[in-house]
Amino acid sequence: MNNRYDAFLIKYAEIGIKGKNRHVFEEALVRQIKIALRPCEGRFSVIRTYGRIFVEAQSEYDFEEVTEALSHVFGIRGICPVAEYEIMPVGELCSTAAAFLQAEYPVDEGTGFGTGGAAGAADGSGTVCPDAKNGAHTFKVHTRRMNKQYPQDSLEVNALVGQAVLEACPNMSVDVHTPEIMLSIEIREKIYIYSQMIPGPGGLPVGVGGKCMLLLSGGIDSPVAGYMVAKRGVRIDAVYFNAPPYTSERALQKVVDLAREISVYTGPIRLHNINFTEIQLYIYEKCPHDELTIIMRRYMMRIAERLAKENDCLGLVTGESIGQVASQTLAALAVTNEVCTLPVFRPLVGFDKEEIIQISRRIGTFETSILPYEDCCTIFVAKHPVTKPRAEVIRRHEQFLNEKIDEMVERAIETDEIIQI
Ligand code: ATP
Ligand code: MG
Repeated sequence: MNNRYDAFLIKYAEIGIKGKNRHVFEEALVRQIKIALRPCEGRFSVIRTYGRIFVEAQSEYDFEEVTEALSHVFGIRGICPVAEYEIMPVGELCSTAAAFLQAEYPVDEGTGFGTGGAAGAADGSGTVCPDAKNGAHTFKVHTRRMNKQYPQDSLEVNALVGQAVLEACPNMSVDVHTPEIMLSIEIREKIYIYSQMIPGPGGLPVGVGGKCMLLLSGGIDSPVAGYMVAKRGVRIDAVYFNAPPYTSERALQKVVDLAREISVYTGPIRLHNINFTEIQLYIYEKCPHDELTIIMRRYMMRIAERLAKENDCLGLVTGESIGQVASQTLAALAVTNEVCTLPVFRPLVGFDKEEIIQISRRIGTFETSILPYEDCCTIFVAKHPVTKPRAEVIRRHEQFLNEKIDEMVERAIETDEIIQI
């Protein structure tokens, strides 16, 4: 193989995953890694061994593509590109390890010292320390010897390899306390060497935390909310309330695109497309216009909850944030919440719009979210919506809908079109 690295060692946070949990966590992580690698060129096997997860390349692959795909998998703290060798005597290991490090941090011809070097330091900082003046680096060797047949113990290997690196690399000096580069050597049935760690997204692998129903509109907030919940290990189904012909086919396409964009993180999503037009027009006809949004939102929540329960979801997720708009004051959120029995998770409650935008740029949904196609709420918004709705008043006004609303809700649920993302 031409690729410099034979495998990727996946580092994950181990706190809280002892005992039985650990098994579940690792299996979910392996599954999500396999899903993430599916679109990548090349063949890989994902192996759990000695409390480690390795992604082993079985063919040529594109390094950027693979590390990019892995960097979207929740539960991964870091991705270490690894070179793999057959067991060799320690003398040979010394020269191999020194050559590996030289290739990672090549000496710059001009200065006699190294260039910027590899993409990430092994300490998890993700970058090589910039005060590596003139391309000089400090390092430390860290050996783990699981294979007790190997004649030298880990301290001996550390010392011998350290010495060999010093002799071979003029730009390297030892710092055992805060090295920029951790040269890691693992001796098992093979020998693994690595020195970089590309940061992962953290969180928990999707699937360990059950499933939620995300209310996904075409806006900036709800895709970010879905991302945040998935980051804690929760699988996502989504529901979009569509209002044709007031909303165009493009508006639906935008939501499908957003679902696809977050699915890079969340894994497959079942998107429920619900026709909400009839309900919306009925509310518009019967209820005070300053209460339209809040009453509409209550019906969305009711329908979302029905779908959630039918699809084994343990909660609802919205992109609401306290005080963002009139329908999201504390009073309005309380009135909206009232119609649900499942917990409603609002992972963005404490975020300013600017902070939400930053995340949406980082995860790649922003450009799609700001496309102009109307979503159903913007067409039916009142000029002066209530900001302090009272539950008993809203309940009373919802009674104006008594004649037809139940059958309309049933009909809306029947329109459910499932789009597999
Ligand atoms: P977003 O919050 O996604 O940016 P927005 O700000 O236009 O869109 P709001 O009016 O703030 O949407 O709605 C608050 C939340 O209600 C959304 O985050 C979303 O979870 C849910 N929601 C609103 N409209 C819809 C819809 N048409 N379909 C599904 N969910 C919706
Ligand atoms: Mg919003």
